Amino acid sequence: MKYLERGYLEADELPPFPPEERINSKKPVAYIECPQSIPCSPCYESCRFNAIEMENINDPPKVDYEKCTGCMACIRVCPGLAIFMLQVKEGRGYVTLQYEFLPWLEKGDRVRLYNRRGEEVGEGVVTWALKPERNDRTQLVTIEMDKDLIFEVRAVRKR
Ligand code: SF4
Ligand code: SF4
Repeated sequence: MKYLERGYLEADELPPFPPEERINSKKPVAYIECPQSIPCSPCYESCRFNAIEMENINDPPKVDYEKCTGCMACIRVCPGLAIFMLQVKEGRGYVTLQYEFLPWLEKGDRVRLYNRRGEEVGEGVVTWALKPERNDRTQLVTIEMDKDLIFEVRAVRKR
């Protein structure tokens, strides 16, 4: 489990990406980067479509990309910021992720894009932003970017 010392996942430690035809569809698809065996299951419990497989609470979640409807219930409840919604439409890429910095992001904001190592890899635009509830500290945001970057970008910061 080298990723624990390193602090991020390398390409060969990632789950398989959703097939191209699922990413290029009308609904985004959940991609979960949560490899550690820990007793955590809000994602599994939140999925009404049985798209998340987990035989016991310590298992890392596994998404059935055919069953995932893109409803975003799982990404709202993940305490580990480990879920990303991926989509490509009209040649542009979109990643929805959890965001916990102030100031909160708003639609139209320009953001810097960072990969898993924390390296800046480009620039994107916020196309959707859900403000947190009063007692929550996590915002959900969708970022438009170059379509090839959706497999790499895992954090953003306001410009
Ligand atoms: S986006 Fe919805 S359908 Fe897809 S895995 Fe998450 S909760 Fe299940
Ligand atoms: S809720 Fe998040 S941290 Fe917990 S098992 Fe699911 S993906 Fe991992």
